[in-house]
Amino acid sequence: MASPTGHSYPPTLDAGLEKDRLSQTIKDWSIANGLAVRPPPALVGQNQDPEGILAINAPVTLFPSPFPKSCFDEAKAIQTSYNELYAQISQDEEFLGRLVQEVAGGDDFIAKLWDVHLKVKKEGYVQNLSLGLFRSDYMVHQDKAHLQIKQVEFNTIASSFGGLSAQTSLLHQHLAQTEYPLLNQPIPTNSLDLPTNNSAQGLAAGLHAAYKAYGKSTLGHPTCVIFLVQDGERNIFDQRHLEYALQESSVPVFRLPFSQVLTHTTLADSPSRQLLYHLPHNPNKTFEVAVAYLRAGYGPGDYPSPEAWEARHRIERSLTIACPTILTQLAGMKKVQQVLATPPTLASGPSTLGKFMPDPAKSSALWKTFTNIYPLDGESAAGKEARRLATDPVECQKYVMKPQREGGGNNFYRGAIPEQLKTVPEEHWNSFILMELITPPPLQNTILRQGKLEQGGVICELGVYGTCLWDQKTGEVKYNEEAGYLLRTKGDQSEEGGVAAGFGCMDSVALV
Ligand code: ADP
Ligand code: MG
Repeated sequence: MASPTGHSYPPTLDAGLEKDRLSQTIKDWSIANGLAVRPPPALVGQNQDPEGILAINAPVTLFPSPFPKSCFDEAKAIQTSYNELYAQISQDEEFLGRLVQEVAGGDDFIAKLWDVHLKVKKEGYVQNLSLGLFRSDYMVHQDKAHLQIKQVEFNTIASSFGGLSAQTSLLHQHLAQTEYPLLNQPIPTNSLDLPTNNSAQGLAAGLHAAYKAYGKSTLGHPTCVIFLVQDGERNIFDQRHLEYALQESSVPVFRLPFSQVLTHTTLADSPSRQLLYHLPHNPNKTFEVAVAYLRAGYGPGDYPSPEAWEARHRIERSLTIACPTILTQLAGMKKVQQVLATPPTLASGPSTLGKFMPDPAKSSALWKTFTNIYPLDGESAAGKEARRLATDPVECQKYVMKPQREGGGNNFYRGAIPEQLKTVPEEHWNSFILMELITPPPLQNTILRQGKLEQGGVICELGVYGTCLWDQKTGEVKYNEEAGYLLRTKGDQSEEGGVAAGFGCMDSVALV
């Protein structure tokens, strides 16, 4: 890839003083500006922060990584089409139900989510509006000299890092202004193309749009937005940045652990089933929840008991605008991405993408970002071919196999694929998908993680946020925006890239 400065990039730092100076600036700026996470217990010792007062730097690169401008512009430009596509998929209950049936045999979690949806459907949904805070993730794929973005996955629930990402862009802009020009191999002021990143504001604006669309309480309560969060969340400042941005527009926002939904909420005794939030510290105060934003509930770990499923059921059947609903969460299954992207030569019937996105210009722009993804069933041509690829010791080296899970750490890479399949009964192989590995161009950078510098080859993953509010009944899209970006970078030896899962770090783009 081209250098953003025309010279060797990132510049080599003098050992000692120069590295120390840059690290120190980043450490202080990060805490001063909330580019931070709560420390892992392993770092401070178990129960060593009983008052919950400690914060540490989020891992971050010393320099923004080079990223092709054409790829960046393309990813941003197609986001509203992606929003539209996933709004359409969320409305097709029959399609989602069919895919759920395909994976449910080997996937109890997906089966249970579907059951909650069916229960609410039977009784009748009272809220037709649905809010998506999405993130479409890509890597740059290098095919000879040609660079193109290829989609890694599409997130429809708890898409994180929009808060920290905006801060990371500001950090790198600050360093470009104050520190990089002073290096022994200086980067002159204003020579890097560092785009503004409105991810925190953009996501908050999506929540605000849903909050306004909900309207006033007919019960006379003030309305609010609730962030449903995990217990012991370490990535809390990421969420707080969104919360503060929303509060700037005078929207009442509360954080409620998902595990406490049953304790602190009730449904109004009315056919509309308003979701009421009773302030834990002041039981006389009740808010009506206009929007429930889930930063929890995306994986089996959030449902340790039947009560947790009851909590999800309460949200789903209430009048609150859920971000996301269960159908929208299920639209983010890797299985959906696979059905959209299965190579046309092997897929039976007309293109699924074309069905959801009839506009040929839009659908071909999205199609270009797909890489080959196969089902693993034993019947279809694509499934049979995938079974051959996944179990062949040489062929499997080009693939990653994924279950229907979110949050990192769930996938099987290369040689681990046939090993994993040996442990799963063949009739359940179809709960996984098989995806071609994307091979991004090699880059160098230095990561500052827990005060230590890690230098070497890195791989970058771009995420573009999108916000969409639509009506499930009429299909009307009421709000559809691209909402900033995330760049995550990991060492090129690591296969997983999640920052929260501990493998990746925050980064921003230097466009080339
Ligand atoms: P999750 O829902 O757990 O985030 P992902 O599909 O995003 O699952 O996969 C996790 C990580 O694995 C990604 O962030 C990326 O680093 C890597 N990865 C996933 N799919 C591919 C692929 N096709 N090619 C290369 N790396 C991939
Ligand atoms: Mg991911």
